[in-house]
Amino acid sequence: MAEKSPPNHRWSVTIDDFVRFLVAKTGDAKCPACGNGQWTILGSGETNHAYRVNTSLRDGGATKALNTFAIFCDECGYAREHLSRIVKLWVEQNPGPEQLELDDLDDLDGTDSDER
Ligand SMILES: [Zn+2]
Repeated sequence: MAEKSPPNHRWSVTIDDFVRFLVAKTGDAKCPACGNGQWTILGSGETNHAYRVNTSLRDGGATKALNTFAIFCDECGYAREHLSRIVKLWVEQNPGPEQLELDDLDDLDGTDSDER
């Protein structure tokens, strides 16, 4: 086997990672407002978050920035956000296909493999 990537190899996540996160964590979850099952993802493939919210804290601490990914319901517009840092934690534990070894990818379509 080839060397493994260190857990913190990637310091940011992408929209593609967010999509994988959504499928794994929320599956085909319906909109809590109207019950529709069709969602649109906000943000482009290049960004590592869809929103950045700056907010003060209740204890008077310094303003804190929260990065989130977001989707909205195609039927009623209900918007849902997921903190980027939670998505990032999941991605670190569930690396995407681009992080797997190439020979593993060769085995995935193995029905016509020369070696069998
Ligand atoms: Zn809805």
